[in-house]
Amino acid sequence: MQINLKTLGCRLNEAELESWAEAFQARGHSLTDNLEQADLLVVNTCAVTQEAVKKSRQLIRRTHRNNPMAKLVVSGCYASLDEKIQKDIPGIDLVINNQKKDQLVDIALKELNFDSMPAISTEPGEASIFKRGRNRAFIKIQDGCRYRCTFCIVTVARGEERSRSEADIIKDINQFHQQGIQEIILTGVHVGGYGSDINLNLYQLINSVLSNTDIPRIRLGSVEPWELPEEFFSLFANDRIMPHMHLPLQSGSDSVLKRMARRCKTNDYKKLIQQARNEIPNFNLTTDIIVGFPGETEEEWQESINFIEETSFSHIHIFTYSKREGTKAATLTNQVDSSIKKQRSKQLHALTKTMRESFLNEQIGQTHSVLWEACNEDNVWKGYTENFIRIELKDSNTSELENKISKVKITGIDDNAEHCIAEFI
Ligand code: SF4
Repeated sequence: MQINLKTLGCRLNEAELESWAEAFQARGHSLTDNLEQADLLVVNTCAVTQEAVKKSRQLIRRTHRNNPMAKLVVSGCYASLDEKIQKDIPGIDLVINNQKKDQLVDIALKELNFDSMPAISTEPGEASIFKRGRNRAFIKIQDGCRYRCTFCIVTVARGEERSRSEADIIKDINQFHQQGIQEIILTGVHVGGYGSDINLNLYQLINSVLSNTDIPRIRLGSVEPWELPEEFFSLFANDRIMPHMHLPLQSGSDSVLKRMARRCKTNDYKKLIQQARNEIPNFNLTTDIIVGFPGETEEEWQESINFIEETSFSHIHIFTYSKREGTKAATLTNQVDSSIKKQRSKQLHALTKTMRESFLNEQIGQTHSVLWEACNEDNVWKGYTENFIRIELKDSNTSELENKISKVKITGIDDNAEHCIAEFI
């Protein structure tokens, strides 16, 4: 049977799609990018914003319209939050909510009577991940979150924390490494909460991954900046752990963080970053900031900007606050005017560019190892360093670098301060 898989949203959705792809192939089915050829269509939805919900609905409709004969399975956060989805959107044969999505492949084959497929499972052909033009794998380590940040719908859609076993995680990593993958990203909803339900923690998991796998590059997905074990940063002494962390701050004002019900205040954040920068050479820090959270005064915004500037990030994902039905923040009064949000977002984009430029300039003259992804028609190779800096290197003599790791020296940065330029050493 031919299966077409589509996802929207976060790295966790992407990781789930990768594991479904592997599971369908292990049961003798094959993947197709050609939606019209598929017998089974699977859509993994997102609900992080109203806009994401709209896009999810559009994708489901479009998928069904382009192949009304195929069976259609829908999963993910939007599908888990909207009980009326099957009544509202025609063509959906099966909805599998977030609590059951790890068993999606077996449930879909059974519920839709596809079980009759050949028992002989065939060795997966070209690894689905490469087929989808990717050379690093997202590995789901846990799902759900016990916290209730007032702007967050994910905690509502994904439920309580559930950790995967170390054995399953290590099996996935070794399977991807066998297929030629050089880098994995450990991802989840609340990565720092890994093991809370199975008497383990993230430090122990990473140690176990280091000793039971040979994958050269282990990267962490987004990690909430609290609950990291004391000795956590000592893990980065192993150069297989990539020296970059994405630690969402959300606001640099403690009174705003209080209204967001965030567990981490600016002082805690500051201490954590100081420890990381003391222990990890060439540590790269990125973050998320919400602009225009309800009630955000000019004073609070200035506090936020000052703290962000003082902390310094190489990149910031900037989210302009939008009401998300089903969250506590949507009920808060003093919603900030959109023109003020726009102005603050513009200001933060400018600051982000300045900070990135200075971080990239600090890299000039330094040596880094790069995992090469692809080469464009102008013989420019693109890839990422161990501390997650995008590299471009023009070299017409070099043929096959894709998915290889090699050493470079940083020689400059591009005019838009988006990547570094390098030469081979
Ligand atoms: S910790 Fe993260 S996932 Fe959990 S509620 Fe807060 S923002 Fe959402």
